[in-house]
Amino acid sequence: MSHVTATLLKEKITTKLKTEKGLDVNDASNKDIYYVLASIVNDEIMPQWLETERRYKEKNSKQVYYLSMEFLIGSLIESNLLKCGMLDASKQALEQLGFEPEQIFAQEHDAGLGNGGLGRLAACFLDSLASLQYPGHGFGIRYRYGLFEQRIIHGNQVELPDYWLKDDYPWENRKDDEAICIHFHGDVHMFKKNDGSLEFKYENTDKVMAIPYDIPVVGYQNGVVNTLRLWSAEAFCRDHDDLNGGDSDFYHNLDHQHSIEQITGFLYPDDSSHEGKELRLKQQYFLVSSSIQNIISDFKKNHQLSLRRLTEKVVIQINDTHPSLAIPEMMRILMDEEHFGWDAAWQVTTKVFAYTNHTTLSEALETWPVDMLRTLLPRIYMIIDEINERFCKGIWYDHKEIREKIPNMAIVADERVHMARLAIVGSFSVNGVARIHTEILKKQEMKDFFWIFPERFNNKTNGITHRRWLLQVNPNLSGLITDVIGPQWIKRPKQLISLLKYSKDPSLLEKFDKVKHENKKALAKFIRERTGILVDDQSIFDVQIKRLHEYKRQLLNIFHVIYLYNELKENPNQDMTPRTFIFGAKAAPSYHLAKETIKLINTVASIVNYDPDIQDKLKVIFLENYNVSLAEKIIPAADISEQISTASKEASGTGNMKLMMNGALTLGTLDGANIEINDLVGNENMFIFGLTADEVMHYYQHGGYHAMDIYNTDDRVKRILDQLNQGEFGSNEIEFKDIYYNILYHNDPYFVLKDFEPYIETHELAERAYRDRKTWLTMSVTNIAYSGKFSSDQTIQEYVSDIWKLKQV
Ligand SMILES: *Cc1c(COP(=O)(O)O)cnc(C)c1O
Repeated sequence: MSHVTATLLKEKITTKLKTEKGLDVNDASNKDIYYVLASIVNDEIMPQWLETERRYKEKNSKQVYYLSMEFLIGSLIESNLLKCGMLDASKQALEQLGFEPEQIFAQEHDAGLGNGGLGRLAACFLDSLASLQYPGHGFGIRYRYGLFEQRIIHGNQVELPDYWLKDDYPWENRKDDEAICIHFHGDVHMFKKNDGSLEFKYENTDKVMAIPYDIPVVGYQNGVVNTLRLWSAEAFCRDHDDLNGGDSDFYHNLDHQHSIEQITGFLYPDDSSHEGKELRLKQQYFLVSSSIQNIISDFKKNHQLSLRRLTEKVVIQINDTHPSLAIPEMMRILMDEEHFGWDAAWQVTTKVFAYTNHTTLSEALETWPVDMLRTLLPRIYMIIDEINERFCKGIWYDHKEIREKIPNMAIVADERVHMARLAIVGSFSVNGVARIHTEILKKQEMKDFFWIFPERFNNKTNGITHRRWLLQVNPNLSGLITDVIGPQWIKRPKQLISLLKYSKDPSLLEKFDKVKHENKKALAKFIRERTGILVDDQSIFDVQIKRLHEYKRQLLNIFHVIYLYNELKENPNQDMTPRTFIFGAKAAPSYHLAKETIKLINTVASIVNYDPDIQDKLKVIFLENYNVSLAEKIIPAADISEQISTASKEASGTGNMKLMMNGALTLGTLDGANIEINDLVGNENMFIFGLTADEVMHYYQHGGYHAMDIYNTDDRVKRILDQLNQGEFGSNEIEFKDIYYNILYHNDPYFVLKDFEPYIETHELAERAYRDRKTWLTMSVTNIAYSGKFSSDQTIQEYVSDIWKLKQV
């Protein structure tokens, strides 16, 4: 714990090296040291884990289970050290032993079991639950391959498999004796029992074993250790019955085993788009069935209560619709295994589930073909069908006013199962992830459901764990904050607001300036090592890091860069604060326009970075393989945070919060949580531009926007598009034609040209503000001061009091 000194740690490291690895410190590699350090942390964590479980049992606590297909936890060594109060001492110990702490921590391969915001949110929530001492656990999938590793080759994204388990992963604990059996396919037989009730039996199912791997979720210096349980698929009884058949069976069975292990083989790399593959559906049911079976058997073990009272002890949050089969799975278990009647089962089910919606993008709303679902999960399909029948009948009789809406509300419609509808109907709570997003759900996307179930809808604005995203990644800034306002903010992040008193104190501003500059130097060094490019650490670090998507408008950003480049070429001596534009982004492998945008950014970089005419006033850096660890390196060094989505499209965003918390100023649209940042800091402390959500939605509904008109009237825009079309930025003329055509002939669906002029002007404002150091630093400190509101601790408190109703233990 916090009393651990560097001296003691050095001793532990050397002893463990000797006794467990037979190594002398001088012969140990970075990897050896990493494993020994992880083992020391585990020695600390394990007894606390045991004790936490004992306490939950003793107190009979209500638990929340967070079901998610993604947990983007990144690397754990540093955060576990921090939570155990050993981080500073370990850094010292490592240095004294002649090792570079950064390099030791870098030995851990990121657990990239998520695509982006949704998966990272799940990780931040677990962190806050444990740190606030709430009984809350995650259920997810142990993908053998996480999100692909991105390489940039000749400017193009190339995807490599992410085999993150190739070295031993020291945080996971396999629990063979808690394996669970999952059934796919098969036949369902119905019997009438003597009392007239129905009984369902399944035959000829394909059985799969779900093996749990538990990862400890450590609370911040409070002795609490919760659990993230990740399921792995294995063939049933792999080395007995199956593989002991004859020779010909042997290969057949190996095949069979392989196809089963494929269920947890890899994470689908699609962000905000629905991947309609049977394997993905198998993954979803695999997660859901193992988790719900586990929850029910734990309830029975821990409480001497009827399952009718499940909701007194259990609440289940489903992260987007991906785990929404949990609803019919709960019904199945209650009816077929626990012999509940329909009404009693439905009563329990609809009081135990709560659903979080993450997007209104139509391409991301999940549906599954009826045929596929019925074949793979026959009993589950029967239950969904029955839920649908009863729901539609209910509207027909009880809500006559909206009878004509039934086809748009039915869970089964057009031969597809609509998962969001299933999730709403089967949950007691439906929440959006930022105020504007929840309002759009209520007024537009889900307005008919809101009409029937107004009490279910609520907002929970996303958050980020300030322990990782400030305390851990930015020790210089954290130290300075603590020097100024004391350490209370670490436990109560809203106390960052005390910084406001000092936001104009010149000596303090100077210190903040220095910290930011140190961080920029460190990032510049990193960029140099990674790319060979020298960036000016006095330049404005302008950062856009997030998945690559049309609605996030990386294109608008790179168009602005091209515009600046064109201006400088015409007038090389114009007075301009040097800028470094930093990008990090993965594109879904099948998303053509997104990949073209990556190519464009890299192509522009290769021209701009080496053009002597512009005298290093512009640099464009694309850092490959954006992931949690890379985010941790970039964020502390950012001056400007680009949050420029087409208004109404970004449900919340969390990158915006991480950057704000590290003193970057937001340059963005009034979208997602940017609006709530703006409420706090005001227009004078951020740079807002562009169409509002209402304006965007009005154009979508009524037309009236013509991208071609802007092309024809704005010379700057025309020049850029013509440069694209004429191959000025490509190895050949067809290189960026698709981008060109999408903007001019598909009428620029994300309003890049419409927002171009205000975007440029806003950048000019930001550049001028940056030159006024005092004002800029005051703005920066003001942002940090208000950022405590976006700690996921705050978000979790709201989930707890409005939805989960948990008690602190
Ligand atoms: C925070 C985070 C995201 C989400 O970023 P947005 O800007 O909100 O889209 C995505 N990926 C990683 C690795 C993150 O850390």
